[in-house]
Amino acid sequence: MSRGSRLTLLAGVLLLVLGAGKRPAGLLDVTDVRVFDHPNHTRVVVELSGSARYHTGTLEDPARLYIDIDGVWIEAPLREPRSSGASAPLRRVRAGQNTLQRARVVMELAEGSVKHHTFHLKQPFRIVTDVYRAGSASEPTPDDDRFDQRPVRRIVLDPGHGGKDPGARGRGGVKEKDVVLRVSRLLRDRLRQAGFEVVMTRERDEYLSLEERTAVANRLKGDLFISIHANASPNRKTTGVETYLLDTRYDRQTARVAARENGTSIGQLNELQRILASLRLGYHERYAVRLAREIHESLLESLRRSYRGTSDLGVKHGPFLVLFMADMPAILVEVGFVSNRAEARRLSSKAFARAAAAGIANGIVRYRDEHARRLVAGR
Ligand SMILES: [Zn+2]
Repeated sequence: MSRGSRLTLLAGVLLLVLGAGKRPAGLLDVTDVRVFDHPNHTRVVVELSGSARYHTGTLEDPARLYIDIDGVWIEAPLREPRSSGASAPLRRVRAGQNTLQRARVVMELAEGSVKHHTFHLKQPFRIVTDVYRAGSASEPTPDDDRFDQRPVRRIVLDPGHGGKDPGARGRGGVKEKDVVLRVSRLLRDRLRQAGFEVVMTRERDEYLSLEERTAVANRLKGDLFISIHANASPNRKTTGVETYLLDTRYDRQTARVAARENGTSIGQLNELQRILASLRLGYHERYAVRLAREIHESLLESLRRSYRGTSDLGVKHGPFLVLFMADMPAILVEVGFVSNRAEARRLSSKAFARAAAAGIANGIVRYRDEHARRLVAGR
């Protein structure tokens, strides 16, 4: 720590002691500090009552990462809003007033070097920091080549719903969130055996916002994003498999849906501009179309081996927010209907999960091989 920063810190502590009740006018508040542990990283979200300028820096001995936020007042110092798990890259998070006009959030880092990345989201204004464990297989790769110029290697698997969001509820108490997690785990294992690197947005029964799901995918530069769901219909006779891709022709409409669901107005989609731009060009579409077809065909093939009458509801377009937000070819698979008595029973069996995982994995392998042939041919 330099002399200067030590003095600043001292001054900050003094201000905390002397300055109680002397809050300068016009400052913003820290409304919440949240810590999320993910398999590959820990995310710290600092929510403010308005937009603020901030900058980050590091301190040694012990290793700390700090964020200084201008024009913010913290009434009482915050300590460990939630401590991270033992293996997490973060030890502790605290926040306090650094100067009269500036708050400081300090994250104590765990042993060894860790990588981190800070960005912000709007409405509400949030400063988000992702801290990665040293040597984590899922740190972002340094090369920033585009997904269409490189082989398909890293798959982001997104088991839909989870935690307080059960998804569709079916006959006999079957919950979509459980069905899709079971399929996704088996799919993960199969894909790893086939040589892919797999990142799951959730590994257990936990709630994640859509933003969380795709932020992980985009930061880690997945090559493909596969969201797994189970269907429900008011018509209890409806059964079968359907696969969705985003309809880019309705991107303005989709943007509005996305904006509303994120509590963000359309003029404030800065965070999504890059994604929107690629969607406007329909850039991902032809890849997503091929991917959806390969997966759909091979899922049907595999399921029909065990369940002969499985209906084919086709490859469709839909304005799914989770697909809109993913900055890579993304599709959503509905593996069956929990609202149909027979299919609900089937969906909760391990045999079905195995057949579905095998089918989806084969489709991804076919897509990868086809993509590799196109790369060689320069198409
Ligand atoms: Zn769903």
